Amino acid sequence: MISIKNVSKWYGDFQVLTDCSTEVQKGEVVVVCGPSGSGKSTLIKCVNGLESFQQGTITVDGISVGDPKTNLPKLRSRVGMVFQHFELFPHLTITENLALAQTKVLGRNKDAAIEKGLKLLDRVGLKAHAHKHPGQLSGGQQQRVAIARALAMDPIAMLFDEPTSALDPEMINEVLDVMVELAKEGMTMMCVTHEMGFARKVANRVIFMDRGQIIEDANKDEFFGSPRSERAQAFLSKIL
Ligand code: ADP
Ligand code: MG
Repeated sequence: MISIKNVSKWYGDFQVLTDCSTEVQKGEVVVVCGPSGSGKSTLIKCVNGLESFQQGTITVDGISVGDPKTNLPKLRSRVGMVFQHFELFPHLTITENLALAQTKVLGRNKDAAIEKGLKLLDRVGLKAHAHKHPGQLSGGQQQRVAIARALAMDPIAMLFDEPTSALDPEMINEVLDVMVELAKEGMTMMCVTHEMGFARKVANRVIFMDRGQIIEDANKDEFFGSPRSERAQAFLSKIL
């Protein structure tokens, strides 16, 4: 579903990604971890074209992200992305937040978009909040709305960038639970997260990045059992 081949990226003279390669199969859940500044966000932003890269290729469902002929807005609409900060529109109600991209990008009619939005809102346990504005919800609730909003676009894959790291501890699990459900339903997911409980529960593979490189790309049991590199061992010993 997602193929990353020999991707390198520079910000001016600074090389932020160095020869990164990996693949995510359909239905696979891959957790990306590593120290702050190691390039995790940059890598997953490259996957849906939010960042460009100078070398290598990325394809999503066979579509080349770096090809200037590719319709990036269309591709982005099919790859859901959930960020650390929920990025809901504060002046719109939850219902309107859920319907907006469906009508504007996919051209769905408004009633169908609202109905789909409400169904997904129900699925993340927030139907009763449909009429509210984002500011009236907790961080955990807003993040669940953000996930529902991404799902409303019928994504072929979901990318998460530290979706729980801005949340108070008591709200982390309500968001992880939604992600676990998605994983169990077979969604293809690439998740930047340091929630190793989540990784142990649902990840197929774990990627460890350091200084712009993919240092390890191992199946979960291998990664937690005996990380090969010293850097991954040191990282794990700090966060576990
Ligand atoms: P991570 O998500 O692993 O914390 P990032 O992908 O956000 O890492 O950043 C990787 C490196 O790239 C960091 O050193 C960061 O300072 C640098 N960086 C990120 N965005 C930019 C930018 N727009 N311009 C210059 N440097 C950047
Ligand atoms: Mg980041």
